[in-house]
Amino acid sequence: MAKIDTLCVHAGYNPGKGAPRQIPIIQSTTFKYETSDQMGRLFDLEDSGYFYTRLQNPTVDAVAAQINALEGGVGAILTSSGQAANLFAVLNIASAGDHIIAANNIYGGTFNLLGVTLTKLGIEVSFLKADSTDAEIEAAIKPGTKLIFGETISNPGVEVFDIERWAAVAHKNGLPLIIDNTFATPVLCRPFEWGADIVTHSTTKYIDGHGVSVGGAVVDSGNFPWDKYSARFPGLTTPDASYHGLTYTKKFGKAAYIVKATTHLMRDLGSTQSPQNAFYLHLGLQTLHLRIKRHSESALKVAKWLEACPDVAWVHYPGLESDPHHALALKYCPEGTSGVLCFGLKGGRAFDNRFLDSLKLTTIETHVADCHTCVLHPASHTHRQLSDDQFRAAGIAPDLIRFSVGLEAPEDIIEDLRQALEKAKSC
Ligand SMILES: *Cc1c(COP(=O)(O)O)cnc(C)c1O
Repeated sequence: MAKIDTLCVHAGYNPGKGAPRQIPIIQSTTFKYETSDQMGRLFDLEDSGYFYTRLQNPTVDAVAAQINALEGGVGAILTSSGQAANLFAVLNIASAGDHIIAANNIYGGTFNLLGVTLTKLGIEVSFLKADSTDAEIEAAIKPGTKLIFGETISNPGVEVFDIERWAAVAHKNGLPLIIDNTFATPVLCRPFEWGADIVTHSTTKYIDGHGVSVGGAVVDSGNFPWDKYSARFPGLTTPDASYHGLTYTKKFGKAAYIVKATTHLMRDLGSTQSPQNAFYLHLGLQTLHLRIKRHSESALKVAKWLEACPDVAWVHYPGLESDPHHALALKYCPEGTSGVLCFGLKGGRAFDNRFLDSLKLTTIETHVADCHTCVLHPASHTHRQLSDDQFRAAGIAPDLIRFSVGLEAPEDIIEDLRQALEKAKSC
């Protein structure tokens, strides 16, 4: 198989003679057929072909195929956002009355999706510490548990998840492991190689990489033996009345999960990605291998500078030798751990705000993981309604500053931090 750098440039789209070199944007809601029978066979899933862009579109499919190739799966879908990707990944195998397990350090948006919205829909969730022992994980598993969920590198705490260990516990108990691989991207970590069964992405972050389009992806490894646990996953292993009694595992084998995500969830919930956004994603993918390594190298330089700075109380970056997650980082992401780091300053909230206001190159944004260096202070921005105690209960240090190192010269990023700290101290 071609190396990952080559797949970033070429996978998913192989133009023939005289075809456009760059992926064409098929901006069409629908597709034409000659006979009524041709169309009917598509709806019976007897033929494959395009009929309506809510379900499938050639541009979107080519980019999904590319992400699938990068992750090493059997199939992938693109979704309208990372939130939709995680929603689909869970709803494809869990419904009212079921139970799921998730690491408690996951992205706040996903924490709310699982802990608030899915709970309202009748899916019970247990949040566990990412460093729970095998026995603690097993103790949380119930008869109705359907899956386990974690993030390769957590947002915003940048903790590295022990995928192989969690996958072993999940599989021993007949459960699939879903991994949100947003920060690592398939260039730095391929969770399927460590036993994960399903991978999700917010492609809004490094895969796009330029802050252009919101999007997501779900990728299926094809490895989980749904039929072996047929009673637990009836949606995949028993006839689907909405497709004339078709059984996904019988008809689609290893691709059962991802086909169901399209034919069932995308059909009914419609969180589809537009062809135009898929095109932007494809542009981003073609340089992902270069960008993510540079992000990682620069972030390590910034993290080392912060670690040595007397105004800084603490720094978390898994690439730092002193970081508690460094050993896991070397195992799962040996070529780098992305551009995101977090730190706390010694001066208190008012000082934090003077520091943020003094940054020049770095912009204040509710975003991470693109080419522009940006910063977010949850205590003043996304979580400003919380007290310090509520913060700690949510697992976020009240002084946490999330810093996303972009593609500018690392010396300029460090100089920006230096001058902002000086200014904050002088007023
Ligand atoms: C941003 C993010 C999401 C949500 O993605 P959107 O594209 O913003 O909907 C999910 N998981 C992680 C790890 C993220 O960073």
